[in-house]
Amino acid sequence: MRIGIYGAGQLAQMMAEAALKLGFSVCFFVDSEEDTRCVTHLGPIFQVIPSDPIKALKAAGHIDLITLEREQVNLEILKDWETQVAIFPSAKAIETTQNRIKEKRMLDELVLPTAPWISTETEADTWTKQVGFPAVLKHPTQGYDGKSQWRVNSVDEVAQITAKVDHALMLEAFVPFDFEVSIISARSTKGELIFYPPTENRHIDGILLNSIAPAPLLNQSLSDRLRHIARTVMKHLDYVGVMAIECFVTGDQILINEIAPRVHNSGHWTMHHQVCSQFEQHIRAISGLPLKPFESRFAHGLVNLLGPFDTPPNDPGSGSELVWYGKASKPRRKLGHIVQCQNTETDLIAEQEALINQLYFCNPESPFYKPLPGGHVVDERLTQTL
Ligand code: AMP
Repeated sequence: MRIGIYGAGQLAQMMAEAALKLGFSVCFFVDSEEDTRCVTHLGPIFQVIPSDPIKALKAAGHIDLITLEREQVNLEILKDWETQVAIFPSAKAIETTQNRIKEKRMLDELVLPTAPWISTETEADTWTKQVGFPAVLKHPTQGYDGKSQWRVNSVDEVAQITAKVDHALMLEAFVPFDFEVSIISARSTKGELIFYPPTENRHIDGILLNSIAPAPLLNQSLSDRLRHIARTVMKHLDYVGVMAIECFVTGDQILINEIAPRVHNSGHWTMHHQVCSQFEQHIRAISGLPLKPFESRFAHGLVNLLGPFDTPPNDPGSGSELVWYGKASKPRRKLGHIVQCQNTETDLIAEQEALINQLYFCNPESPFYKPLPGGHVVDERLTQTL
């Protein structure tokens, strides 16, 4: 089987490596000026011209199916390709999940819980009534790692921002969450479903810093609810592949923040050799191979390597594995991650705390350096959430 992957970043790289290990071959489709250094060694690369996307398909030769590393793609390209070859997840699934407003509408239709939200195309007086302040204003399609989002405290602030943008934004109530979780699940071409245990995620400046699975603070009933959410969304979209759903937990409530129709950073902990990785699971799901249920009694985790790092940090220690993407170093950019696995949650949390202090909070080179009086560095968020 030959799989085309649209995209050339680290997610494309890790999907391709999983596909090659399963005995498939791969090629890549990229937009003009896309940085391809993560994938050049893995298969041929074809540039997509938006006015003639079929040209790249023809140049690539025989392909059994196409998958994607990101949802922010030109839908017209996907729709054109879909006339020639299967795409997983489908253009319809991407259409809904690439746009926060369409995604929230779908969740409302499915009666799945989100924070109160509204599109700014409505009258300004409904913003306060329906959402209230403080709130978060989000671009419907742009933005990742907290970009293209604004904390807002009044109708005037919203109006000032919307005046600079040529289309509707999504206004969402600010959620004073206890912690954040995600669930990574997969659905195959045959409708088979598997769930990884929910993962607790901690962000810094809107960027994922570290994850722990199973999520230490999540009780059974909330875990069950997360699985119900994932199952409902995937069945509704007739979804094929891996999906990540990011949520806020506040008290005994789960509120869905965002759906990622793809493999996801908060699932990188599955790359430990004890586990079938989300990348292998995705390739299994789209290629018709049976899915592999999750079976691990260990505590798993990941710590992201957020730039600048000119070279990978030293050996991460026993039970850990370093994954380095080979990208150019930039402050705050995800350059790699460390996958962790320990016998107990306590050991894992201690290991993460030490590593995060060393890499960031005690490191004057890091944008996240935080010296406290007395030279002793304690990160409050770490002790609060873990
Ligand atoms: P997003 O790009 O929507 O995933 O947002 C990035 C991060 O910003 C989330 O992981 C949260 O930490 C924070 N965030 C986003 N939306 C909200 C909200 N409505 N209330 C509180 N925090 C939020």
